[in-house]
Amino acid sequence: MNRSLYVKLVLIMLLLIISLMSVVGAFLMRGIRSFYLNEFYQQMQTVFSKPDLVNALRSAADEKNADELMAEILRAHSGSLGIDSGTRNYYILSGTTGAVITGSDVRPEWELEITPNILTAIAGAEGYRSDSNAEYMDVALPIRGQSGSYIVYIKDSKATVQSLSAELFEIILESLAVGLIISVFLSLLLAKTMVTSIQSLTRAAERVAGGDFSDKLDIQARDEIGVLAKTFNNMADQLEKTLDDLRKSEAMRREFVANVSHELRTPITSIRSYAETLETNPGLPPDTQKQFLQVIVNESDRMTKIVSDLLTLSRFDAGSFEMVFEEFSFEKSVRDVYNAMLLEAQRRNQEFSLEFKSSLPNIRGDRARVEQVLINMVSNAIKYTHNGGRISITAGATDDCVWALVKDNGVGIPSADVPRVFDRFYRVDKARSRESGGTGLGLSIAKEIVARHNGTVELDSQLGKGTTITVTLPVKGAGHDQKKNN
Ligand code: ADP
Repeated sequence: MNRSLYVKLVLIMLLLIISLMSVVGAFLMRGIRSFYLNEFYQQMQTVFSKPDLVNALRSAADEKNADELMAEILRAHSGSLGIDSGTRNYYILSGTTGAVITGSDVRPEWELEITPNILTAIAGAEGYRSDSNAEYMDVALPIRGQSGSYIVYIKDSKATVQSLSAELFEIILESLAVGLIISVFLSLLLAKTMVTSIQSLTRAAERVAGGDFSDKLDIQARDEIGVLAKTFNNMADQLEKTLDDLRKSEAMRREFVANVSHELRTPITSIRSYAETLETNPGLPPDTQKQFLQVIVNESDRMTKIVSDLLTLSRFDAGSFEMVFEEFSFEKSVRDVYNAMLLEAQRRNQEFSLEFKSSLPNIRGDRARVEQVLINMVSNAIKYTHNGGRISITAGATDDCVWALVKDNGVGIPSADVPRVFDRFYRVDKARSRESGGTGLGLSIAKEIVARHNGTVELDSQLGKGTTITVTLPVKGAGHDQKKNN
């Protein structure tokens, strides 16, 4: 990939330079040719439009030795005619045949080419026609006098233009060579800056594909490659986060499945062992038999509770949990829960109080579910508080919310465990929870129910001192959101 990018860039630069130099060269050479051509004809026209020169030539044509006189006049003007330049000559031609009579460059056995301008002069008109393709430039002027008709003829071989063009061509070739070297160098440099960035992008993409997100691309350029690098980094971040989330949820799923299996196996094992003991020992005293049967019934109840709690949670997860939203008195619900739990607290000699900080408005929500949350809060307080402990329910209302707080002076929760108590199956003390009929799912369900009411549940605890758990619910319920949860 890299080589082809290098080659492409170098080739493009080379073609660019070659075409640029060819176009510039062609225009320059053509410009020089036409400049010289124009110069020549302008000069001739200026010189031959001088009346004294033309008049002198005309009067010379009246004389006997007209050709010599005319040649002398032209020689006298050789400076302004540019004849001393070496490539330009003058001739006096016969006005009827165009044959050379005399001139500045007359050689034996040599004939002057009869050009279109000479023919024009023979016909009696001034020959000033220019032909950029011809290898010469010429001017032919007819001069008639009493001693005959003559043609004053100036011819330039264009050798100067040609040697200049050749020199220019050489210069163009040389600069083309230098330009090519520079452009190869520049295009290699350009390719290198691009290729280096692309290479680091490729390496980064390979790393990401291999699951390594540790290195970020460090391309500071503000050009398209810089934007690409930034986008790539963002994409890698997103991917890393998504993968992390996936791994976490996969780990949670595994842990959950392991927990479910474990939680169900424990009661099954004890049911089985008690049932087997009863089967193999029919002679057990009736009291022991009754005690064993009671354990079997209790363990079955626990299994039923675990299964029904799991069903509730899986319905929440699937979004298929049915909630019945209606207006009800939160105050009455709190009071009902207090009354329902009072007996249990009294059984444990716990001091159990209820206090309303203000009168509570009716709220919109699923009454049975809200009461389930309150019962879970109070039963936890009773379960995790020693006999003779103190438990209080306080409830009140703020602007558009109602709240209920359950406080106990029980065993408390270590601060490291506090954030986890809402996790499924998470229990600080498994044995104690199981002993008291807990499943480790109560607070997870409470959290789901409260969330579906757009409310919050907060737990604050100090190990050995006690726990406070507060639920807050909006008076208006879940508003329009409730539909999607139904
Ligand atoms: P469980 O059925 O075990 O009570 P929960 O989900 O209701 O399950 O509670 C999770 C864990 O949080 C409990 O096992 C217990 O360790 C802790 N917990 C909850 N409420 C209290 C509390 N009032 N005092 C002490 N620990 C508590």
